[in-house]
Amino acid sequence: MTEALPQPQPSSASPSGATGRPSWDEYFVQLVPLVAGRATCDRGRSGCVIVRDHRIVCSGYVGSPPGLPHCDDVGHLWRNVVEDDGGIRTHCVRTIHAEQNALAQAAKYGLPLAGTTVYCTMEPCATCAMLLISVGVERVVALRRYHAAQQSRDLLAAAGVQLDVWYDEDQQYPNQLNADAAGAPAPDLAPGVVAGTVAGSVAAALADEAAVPEAE
Ligand SMILES: [Zn+2]
Ligand SMILES: [Zn+2]
Repeated sequence: MTEALPQPQPSSASPSGATGRPSWDEYFVQLVPLVAGRATCDRGRSGCVIVRDHRIVCSGYVGSPPGLPHCDDVGHLWRNVVEDDGGIRTHCVRTIHAEQNALAQAAKYGLPLAGTTVYCTMEPCATCAMLLISVGVERVVALRRYHAAQQSRDLLAAAGVQLDVWYDEDQQYPNQLNADAAGAPAPDLAPGVVAGTVAGSVAAALADEAAVPEAE
């Protein structure tokens, strides 16, 4: 489902004036929910539009790699993941982030991204932030905040990438909260689980083993 289009914010920098014509930021910010509407995982339908000189270079949304099954068709792929804030939460890992899909599209079609501005649903995760820095993005405009984005903010600031947040509030994930509350399918500790989780499990298993009295 496509999120309601964000309403343009009054801005002294906006050329809207009496005509009601959106500023460039307002124009591209309003495209983001449209792109996000194509996402294929309801755990977080986000989108992103990459722009240079007021022209769209590429776009991306949360989805599986081309040709692979989508969550909306075959269900999620659950894993326990250590997040940027150190918390361990259950995530769907079937899909590629919107920013990463946009970068992949640029790579596929040979589109340089140096000097671009990225408009996205929420502040990028740390991995995406590092990738955006690496390809030469100069500015990130996020519609909302990502609850675990402190590392991303630090990375972008250290790299001199400007970060603007359109609405100063956290992005909400209704389906993620529901899934967590209802108990998402127990994630199997198989390949794909982050090392910290596996190490923790092994440590717990060893502790249990040590507690078992030795047989005589
Ligand atoms: Zn999913
Ligand atoms: Zn990301």
